[in-house]
Amino acid sequence: MADCLFCKIAAGEIPSRQVFADDRFYAFEDINPQAPTHFLIVPRKHIPTLDDLSRDDGALVGDLVLLASKLAREKGLAESGYRLNINCKEGAGQTVLHLHAHILGGREFRWPPG
Ligand code: AMP
Ligand code: ZN
Repeated sequence: MADCLFCKIAAGEIPSRQVFADDRFYAFEDINPQAPTHFLIVPRKHIPTLDDLSRDDGALVGDLVLLASKLAREKGLAESGYRLNINCKEGAGQTVLHLHAHILGGREFRWPPG
C-alpha cells in the first residue's frame, strides 16, 4: 500500500535495523524499544489489523507465529521467556495500521498488561 509506513520499511524505502527477511515477512528492531530485545515482524502483504484477516491468511499467521518463536530462540530468549504481542486497533494501542507482531524479551513482564 502506497502510504503505509511498514510497507515502506519492508520494501527498504525507509531505513530500519533488519532482523530477518524473506519473500513473505520482514522483521526489524523497534525504534522505541520497550525491553532489551524488542523487534517487530510484519507480513509483506498489507493487512491493516487482525480483524482484516481472511481464512486464506491462516497459513500466513501460523508461519508468522512460528517465525516469532524461531527468531526469539535465535536471540537467546528461549530460556528466560519472551512476549509475543499483537495490538488490534486504537483502543489496544495499535498506532501503525499494518499488522505487526511485537517480540519483547530480556526483562520481567507483568500480567495483566497495563
Ligand atoms: P503498535 O503501537 O502496536 O502499532 O506498534 C507500532 C510500533 O512501531 C511501536 O512500538 C513503534 O515504536 C514502532 N515504530 C514506529 N515507527 C517505526 C520505525 N520507523 N522503525 C521501527 N519501529 C517503528
Ligand atoms: Zn502496509
